[in-house]
Amino acid sequence: MLYPLKIFKDYQTFLVADLSTHAYLRIKEILMELKTFLQYLLLFFITIFVLIVALYMFLHREHRRNFIDPLTKIYNRAYLEKLHGKVALDKIVIAMIDIDYFKVINDTYGHAAGDEVLIEISKRIAKYIRNDDILIRYGGDELLLILQKEKDKDYKKLFERIYKRAKAEPITLSSGNTIQISLSIGVNLVAYKDSSLNEALKKADNALYHAKHSGRDCIRYFDEEEASKGYLPFQKITELIKDDKILLHYQPIYNIKTGKIDKYEALARLQDGERIYYPYQFLYSIFQTNVYREFTKKIVVKAFETIKKEHVNISVNFNKSDFFDDELFESIKELVLANRDLTKYIIFELLENEEMKTDDEKIINRIHYLRELGCKVALDDFGSGYSNISYFLTLEPDIIKIDGSIVKQLQNNERARRVLKSIAVFAKYMQIETIAEFVEDKKTLEILASYGIENVQGFFIGKPSATLAEGSVKIFDRIDSDAA
Ligand code: GH3
Ligand code: MG
Repeated sequence: MLYPLKIFKDYQTFLVADLSTHAYLRIKEILMELKTFLQYLLLFFITIFVLIVALYMFLHREHRRNFIDPLTKIYNRAYLEKLHGKVALDKIVIAMIDIDYFKVINDTYGHAAGDEVLIEISKRIAKYIRNDDILIRYGGDELLLILQKEKDKDYKKLFERIYKRAKAEPITLSSGNTIQISLSIGVNLVAYKDSSLNEALKKADNALYHAKHSGRDCIRYFDEEEASKGYLPFQKITELIKDDKILLHYQPIYNIKTGKIDKYEALARLQDGERIYYPYQFLYSIFQTNVYREFTKKIVVKAFETIKKEHVNISVNFNKSDFFDDELFESIKELVLANRDLTKYIIFELLENEEMKTDDEKIINRIHYLRELGCKVALDDFGSGYSNISYFLTLEPDIIKIDGSIVKQLQNNERARRVLKSIAVFAKYMQIETIAEFVEDKKTLEILASYGIENVQGFFIGKPSATLAEGSVKIFDRIDSDAA
């Protein structure tokens, strides 16, 4: 502040007073404090921000580690555990999707190729789902889809699309090979009827079971009627097999030439108290597991026990792939070697339900080895499925069992008669014994006899029975009384 000092009208001087200094300093001080405060505030916010980002990243990583399958990048089984009790069953649709013959891909192209297929299939399926739908890797090659139900949506159409698109284009592997895959899908559209997610999943699994059983490469919807056919749960099967609740029922095979029953087909059953379960009720779910190995071993043991007692020929059913399984083959080999004096009585009956492609040579060599030890080999269901003339060169069977579908038509289908006659001539020329299955009446038996078929099996001869004698007595009665 300037204040002029006048002395007798003259301005002598100015009084100068700096009144602002104090205020300025104060203001400056306040500003400094404010600045520091703002700096701290900024630092605080930055710290919070960094912490939030770090926490998010940590949780995200934990989530990925705990709930995301590292291979396919979809949810893993642990995520499913979290869902129990949290999903509204009336608002979901469940599908179990399994790749057909995935093991063959692993066996043929290697495990890494199998991995590529899993990744690609997961991606193809993920394309069809929305944000709130859940895709989970349920098992090895099994995916679980939990869809949020929308009103009036046609789910059958959606699954049809997923099923078709997933297999529409072959998968090209990084090795350059292309693989054509197919899917089997089991769907539960009625999850609202279930009391828990587990129960709903079981129904989808049951439908998948039917899809696999109907020859794979198809969709099946859960059907109460099918479910009531009494398939055994895996756990129960495991227990029964462990407790040796396996029964062998023997179906007699009648030798037309000798007029005697000289062979029996051993058919496995599981016994749970009063109830008897048939292979279709348990075999599929244990296939290619340790339980299956245990089961097969025990059957061979039992067959040898009966052979030892009765000295009769007994055939035991095998899948060709059973001979591919190192562990299983080793046990069979051991059992055969332990019963060397009885090997001529045992017949390994190879089912015609799978094409032979997984390392055929290994299977063929093993079958030859068993033949060298004196065992016999029969081709089952000849004339159906994957029957291949080249088997006569490679497997060199001792016996062929002519498929029931041809035998059943003998009385009213001329072509069936010609086919059968040709098989009989061919077999004789190849020095292979024949057994015709599904012989259910005398007329069929007579036709078969006139064609030179050597053995017959079927309800006319005898049903599978727990004891050998029971089966044989009945047929003689029936044939004699029919003849009379
Ligand atoms: P099916 O038609 O009856 O489904 O027969 P499948 O050959 O597909 O056999 P299944 O589904 O019973 O078995 C799946 C196989 O998947 C068994 C296992 O060796 C294989 N597998 C499991 N996990 C993986 C994986 O992460 N990578 C690869 N490459 N294979 C796997
Ligand atoms: Mg599979």
